[in-house]
Amino acid sequence: MKLDVDVLRYLSKDDFRVLTAVEMGMRNHEIVPTELIDRIAHLKHGGTYKVLKNLLKHKLLHHDSSKYDGFRLTYLGYDFLAIKTMVNKGVFVAVGRQIGVGKESDIFEVAREDGTVLAMKLHRLGRVSFRAVKSKRDYLKHRSSYNWLYLSRLAALKEYAFMKALEEHGFPVPNAIEHNRHCVVMSLVQGYPLVQVKQLQNPEVVFETIVGLIVRLAEHGLIHCDFNEFNVMINDDEKVTVIDFPQMVSVSHHNAQMYFDRDIECIFKFFRKRFNLSLQESRDDIDGSDGEGDEGVLDEGGRPCFSSIDKSTGFLDKELAASGFTKKDEVDIQKFIEGNAEEDTHSDDEGTELVDVKDHGSLELLEQPDEEHETMGKEGNTEAAESSESERQDESDK
Ligand code: ADP
Ligand code: MG
Repeated sequence: MKLDVDVLRYLSKDDFRVLTAVEMGMRNHEIVPTELIDRIAHLKHGGTYKVLKNLLKHKLLHHDSSKYDGFRLTYLGYDFLAIKTMVNKGVFVAVGRQIGVGKESDIFEVAREDGTVLAMKLHRLGRVSFRAVKSKRDYLKHRSSYNWLYLSRLAALKEYAFMKALEEHGFPVPNAIEHNRHCVVMSLVQGYPLVQVKQLQNPEVVFETIVGLIVRLAEHGLIHCDFNEFNVMINDDEKVTVIDFPQMVSVSHHNAQMYFDRDIECIFKFFRKRFNLSLQESRDDIDGSDGEGDEGVLDEGGRPCFSSIDKSTGFLDKELAASGFTKKDEVDIQKFIEGNAEEDTHSDDEGTELVDVKDHGSLELLEQPDEEHETMGKEGNTEAAESSESERQDESDK
């Protein structure tokens, strides 16, 4: 998806005010009635209607009049709200090329004022794939609050919370910098996803490091659940960084053993095929005669045994709660992810697609000195309106 941030510069305070009003309306409406948008935005002289037309033209909103006259945010509209908030907070000043596109996210380079380049991940949980359209609709029908806005925001919050907690416990993960809505900003990892790496100086060392990480995660009470060559980055010094956390689960999850074994198996399989490490194929092929590993810790195939890992270091509950990620959030997002996983097992598994978009232009500056401040609204009141409105909304939610 092309993120034309140029538009952002030409949007006025009123534009953002109306966009925010639609976002608020979407808490209770899939399509927000035009009248309600007007009431929330509260622009003078029917200004809302003119603004709505402008937002529609820039594809920040979608118009729907099938049941009644109304609007909903598009991904682009939601992206712009998050990006504007980040810019207002001074997190970054420019958006650059797209560096990754997964099934459920888009990743861009962004730049700080001092030129430091960071990574911005926009979550797209609930981006509906064709094969899953029907069952997902059925699923969503029964839970009106389970819309993509909510799920994508939850995914971002979870990713941010886990990244922060893991970082604090010394895991090699990107530095979590900020999150807002469905957007997470983190440090840019130098290097490449392992899937793109054809040769390693020390494949055994890298392999041991990665398997060690899966074990250490389990000791801390966590399983990555998508630990594979797409989510492990490696730099020129063969230093490993793990990314992509929205699907992580606790070791107390009822399928923990299966998820753990699956993560381990992915890595075994990849290193056997790509780097010709002599690793046993799978548990089933083992004759059981020759247990080389530390008794109990490794099985006969050299794979770590989930049941013999000491998990007493504990789940990172405190750190996660500190980032605002609650038990209810976990239940909600897990229900959705596991619902999807069931559907996915019926499709041919192509793994996470990675599109390497090179030469995608230079960084687009989002903030220009002085004369642009008016439209960027750094001192503008959209943000203020947003927070006071949401507080009011929160009050009425109680
Ligand atoms: P998804 O959930 O869609 O798989 P990921 O977090 O795995 O999203 O990111 C997709 C791709 O984007 C990665 O494979 C990687 O190439 C790139 N990427 C993600 N985060 C970073 C980062 N912090 N630094 C550099 N590249 C990144
Ligand atoms: Mg990934």
